[in-house]
Amino acid sequence: MKHYALTILLLVVVFAGGGFFLLRDNQAPSLTLTPSVGPISAKRPPVLTLEDEGAGLKNVLVTVTQGDQTIELLRSDYQRGTASRLLDLSLKDVKLKNGPLTLEVTATDQAILANTVSESFSFDYDSRPPVVSVLTRAHNLNQCGAGLVLYKVSEEVERSGVQIGEYFFPGYLQEKGFYACLFAFPYDMQQAAFLPRLIAVDRAGNERKASFYYHTNPRPPKRDRINLSQQFLDSKMPKFQDRYPEAENMLDIFLCVNRELRQQNRTKLKEFSRQTAASPSWQGAFLRLPNAANRAGFNEQRAYIYGGNKVDQQTHLGIDLASLANSPVPAANSGSVVFADYLGIYGNCVVVDHGLGLQTLYAHLSTISASVGDQVDKGQIIGRTGATGMAGGDHLHYGVVIAGVPVNPVEWWDPNWIKHNFSNKWKAALAPPAAY
Ligand SMILES: [Zn+2]
Repeated sequence: MKHYALTILLLVVVFAGGGFFLLRDNQAPSLTLTPSVGPISAKRPPVLTLEDEGAGLKNVLVTVTQGDQTIELLRSDYQRGTASRLLDLSLKDVKLKNGPLTLEVTATDQAILANTVSESFSFDYDSRPPVVSVLTRAHNLNQCGAGLVLYKVSEEVERSGVQIGEYFFPGYLQEKGFYACLFAFPYDMQQAAFLPRLIAVDRAGNERKASFYYHTNPRPPKRDRINLSQQFLDSKMPKFQDRYPEAENMLDIFLCVNRELRQQNRTKLKEFSRQTAASPSWQGAFLRLPNAANRAGFNEQRAYIYGGNKVDQQTHLGIDLASLANSPVPAANSGSVVFADYLGIYGNCVVVDHGLGLQTLYAHLSTISASVGDQVDKGQIIGRTGATGMAGGDHLHYGVVIAGVPVNPVEWWDPNWIKHNFSNKWKAALAPPAAY
């Protein structure tokens, strides 16, 4: 008799309510909290994900406990058919002290024999931004040049470095406990816009912005005119023709290459800069291609002239060095090869990483004699000069890049500049703390 009644009840539930799951579901809702451990703050509240594939969610309760105080953070009831919810657990309206806290989450489903899940999570509430102490005193930058700042932070950080407008130069933690950040006075930035700030963001999302002393020297860009001969276009552009099938003539191809491909290649350089060692792998001044004449300087504003008209304008972001054709090209300093291949306007090209986001670029090579992953020594031959890519004649286009931002290579050739702006700072940071 009892068995019969149960069967009827089951049929009624299944057919009348369509609620098969209400009976069959014996699984509690699943819950995940992100993050689920470690530091948190009101700036970066944890996100709760609730799911119940069976009968659906019925309600959730979240409490926060600190010491002997428990506060209700969230209480919600859900309509039938709610399979999942994504919830920001805002901590903005609760008074919390810095220190340990526990979040308790309890969720129940709609099943007739309700299934409940309850989990607690231990966090460290942290509303204090990290304290940043700058170790280096002087930061003298030439426009388009580089600078080094060394600093310490009071706690573990998720991200730190120098922010200048839209540019961010990451700092790298060194074995001795300080951070090192190479940054640039970006070539396309006006002096008034150059306002570097040290940024440190801890794991709870608290951000400190610290200023540091700096001095800048203006280096106004030079102007240059490049005459595009028909002969140059006819000899160089067919190589790029496949890329731009829409282009109607050699000049059109040139303009596409000079604008779009140049930009794409620069984006690639930015990507390479992420493959960098956390500490410097080099020493002393960088080598210049021996017995070579400077053909074009850094940050030259190039007007491209064709048939007497200006057809384009670009900035030259390296130094062109001309020697004998097929001259051996030495690695300017020790490091590891992060790129050795054909790269658009640069032709055959090698990029060497020197650590801290600092990389050197060797372009238009006729041959490459290095492979990705190679450790190279200062002076080691990595290829020979040539005229591959967008080069009018045999020369080396040599570039220095910091975090993907091209800087003036000249200062890196100068042992005095290296000493004052890099080596001495590094030595002082390694000295006993009494030095500061
Ligand atoms: Zn060049």
